[in-house]
Amino acid sequence: MRKTKAMQALVLNNGIWSCTTSAEMPRPGPGESLVQVRYAGLCGTDLELSSGYYGFSGIPGHEFVGRVLEGPRQGTRVVADINVGCGDCFRCTSGQHRHCQQRTVIGIKGRAGAFAQYLSVPDQNLLMVPDQLSDELAVYAEPVAAALEVIEQVAEARPTEVLVIGAGRLGMITGQVLASFGVKVQMLIRNPLRAQHIQNPDIEIVSSADKDAYPWVIDCSGSKDGLVAALDATQAQGLLVLKSTVVNAGEVDLSPIMVKELNVLGSRCGPMARALNWLEAGAMEPPKAVVFPLGEVGGALNAATDPNYFKVLFNPDLEI
Ligand SMILES: [Zn+2]
Ligand SMILES: [Zn+2]
Repeated sequence: MRKTKAMQALVLNNGIWSCTTSAEMPRPGPGESLVQVRYAGLCGTDLELSSGYYGFSGIPGHEFVGRVLEGPRQGTRVVADINVGCGDCFRCTSGQHRHCQQRTVIGIKGRAGAFAQYLSVPDQNLLMVPDQLSDELAVYAEPVAAALEVIEQVAEARPTEVLVIGAGRLGMITGQVLASFGVKVQMLIRNPLRAQHIQNPDIEIVSSADKDAYPWVIDCSGSKDGLVAALDATQAQGLLVLKSTVVNAGEVDLSPIMVKELNVLGSRCGPMARALNWLEAGAMEPPKAVVFPLGEVGGALNAATDPNYFKVLFNPDLEI
């Protein structure tokens, strides 16, 4: 039996981050496991949450790897499919729980996340991490799955060339995933400090994009400027994939969609099991990450916008 009733966690409330050592221990419900967090990644969505996205308050964190402390898979290393469906609706019963209208999402919507020592996760959402795959790579399963989703969505009509816009983590992972499928990838990265993180010979870094030049553009920028650049760069009748959350697009001229007859495709979460396989196959070197204890949230938030780092991770075991 665990003696501790409290744990350390990061809490987000009205856009204010704080670290507490007296967060209530998660109490797994029926069909749920208690997971001890090893690494949790800070991503653009978490930064969006702090500006009010989904009205979230509580413990964020949806990219994580951990170990099951209590549950059927006790002792195994796991990652999780973050979307928790109701289990009853037509979406859930047809294998599309990601689109269940009643869903909760770990660390994003109605459910505590992984910026904590522990979290509870429905057993059916857990995936075992293969022995050969390190925690340092497995923590990227969620964004890799999101990148793989693009490949699945356009399986039949996949263009052979793509422009990826946005040099954040998701953009860089998406570029690497697409390159591994033989797609000729150009990445629009204006900041050379960001470009240093791409060491993949199959990816060409460009600092500007020609107008109406690309049959396929994926916007991973999360920004209005990135969306504008994507609308501009996609060629007539091309495919524009919106991969990141642009909450405040403001006034963007959408007329290129009509004038150029663009196909616009939204793309969110993807197949976690395939992401683990992709990572296990060694298609991505462990990126340059900086690891913080939960108590140094301020430093972590600063590092998240520092182009010298590819990724900011929390490790709840680290002492301040
Ligand atoms: Zn994320
Ligand atoms: Zn449902």
